[in-house]
Amino acid sequence: MTDCLFCKIISGQIPAVKVYEDDHVFAFLDIKPVNPGHTLVVPKKHFSDLLDADPDTLSKMIMAMQKMARAMVKALGLEAFNIGQNNGRIAGQLVDHLHFHLIPRAADDGLRHWPGKPYASDEEAETVAKKLRQHLNS
Ligand code: AMP
Ligand code: ZN
Repeated sequence: MTDCLFCKIISGQIPAVKVYEDDHVFAFLDIKPVNPGHTLVVPKKHFSDLLDADPDTLSKMIMAMQKMARAMVKALGLEAFNIGQNNGRIAGQLVDHLHFHLIPRAADDGLRHWPGKPYASDEEAETVAKKLRQHLNS
């Protein structure tokens, strides 16, 4: 897509620090990393988010991420890393080209997990799970 930031990075119109590239996947350093080595993994083909992407691309991406995660763990001597992926503004998606964040973790690095809260009742949990199952089967 012509006005997409990540498409411009993939095509070389905008500079980025490349980490990995294959026929389907491109990966580069996030400009504002949680920790050094924080990498964005994107499909070369433009998809706006996870819902938009085709299964073949997604399988190529997860395989590339495992390869990169293995390299990251060794190269940076990591004990831990996160993979994150935001869909929609409310969820924090700023760039509308599908991307996964591969984030090296360090103790006390300030990245916080989402706040969990318990279900009000077993019924509430069962009701929402029922809705999810119905749409998975339709
Ligand atoms: P998200 O909030 O999941 O859409 O993530 C977008 C990410 O893109 C943020 O973490 C930004 O720091 C990163 N970002 C924005 N512009 C650039 C750029 N020119 N090069 C590398 N990373 C960028
Ligand atoms: Zn794009």
